[in-house]
Amino acid sequence: MFVSASGLAKSYDTGVVTPVLRGAALELDRSRIGVILGPSGSGKSTLMNIIGGVDRADEGVVEVDGERITDLDDDGLVEYRRESVGFVFQFYNLVPNLTAGENIEVVSNISKQPLAIDEVLAAVGLTEKKNRFPRELSGGEQQRVAIARAIVKNPKLLLCDEPTGALDIATSRDVLAQLQRVNTQFGTTILMITHNVAVAEMAHAVFRMRDGEVEHATQNAEPVPAE
Ligand code: ADP
Ligand code: ADP
Repeated sequence: MFVSASGLAKSYDTGVVTPVLRGAALELDRSRIGVILGPSGSGKSTLMNIIGGVDRADEGVVEVDGERITDLDDDGLVEYRRESVGFVFQFYNLVPNLTAGENIEVVSNISKQPLAIDEVLAAVGLTEKKNRFPRELSGGEQQRVAIARAIVKNPKLLLCDEPTGALDIATSRDVLAQLQRVNTQFGTTILMITHNVAVAEMAHAVFRMRDGEVEHATQNAEPVPAE
C-alpha cells in the first residue's frame, strides 16, 4: 500500500487531556485520490498533518512509499516534508510581490528533481497567467497557482486541506478538475480534506471520520469527473 496509516492516537493537553485521534487508520494506493470527510473537530486535519510529517502521533504507524514516517527524527521529518509532500490549503498563501511563475520557481529552486515550471503551469491551465501577480488573479486562479507550486517538486503525496473551502461552486469544480488532471497527468497520489459530500464523488477512496477514528472507508470504482 502506497500510503498506510494505522493505530494513530493523539491527544492534546490544554489543562485537560483531550483525545483527538483514537486509533485512526487509512490506506491509499499509489496514484489514487482519497478524500477525508467528517464533522468539524473529528480529527481530519490532525490525521492529515501526521501523514504529512507536520505533526507527530502519540501512537501508531504511518508509511509512505515504504518509508516509515513515524520512525523519522526531526531532521528526517523536515526532509520528508520538503522532498515528498506538497501542501494545498484553503487560503492560497502566495507571495504577493512575486508573479505566478515566480511563486512556483521559489519551490522549484529548492527541489531535488523538480518538474518544469511551464509544464506545471500548463497542467493547471495557467500558461497565459505566468507573469501575473496574485492580486491580478481570481480566487480560483490563485488556488491553481498554489496547486502548481505544490506539485512542482514532484511530490509523492499531495495533501489538500479544504482546497475549495473559500471558493464558489463553479470555481470549486474547476479547482477539483485541475487536481484530477494533476492526478492523471503526473500520477500524483492525492489526499484531500473536504466538508463537501459532492467532492467525495471525484475520489477513488473515501474515508469518513468521526470522533478521531476513520469510521467508514469506501472505494469508488468509477470516480465522477469534476468537469
Ligand atoms: P477537523 O480537521 O476534523 O476539524 P482537527 O484535527 O482540526 O479536526 O481537530 C480535532 C480536535 O483537536 C479539535 O477539537 C481541536 O480543537 C483539537 N486540536 C487541534 N489542534 C490542537 C492543538 N494544537 N491544541 C489543542 N487542541 C487542538
Ligand atoms: P472569478 O469569477 O473566477 O472570481 P474574476 O471575475 O475575479 O474571476 O476574474 C476574471 C478574470 O479577470 C480572471 O481571468 C482574472 O485573471 C482577471 N482579473 C481579475 N482581477 C484582475 C486584476 N485586478 N487585474 C488584472 N486581471 C484581473
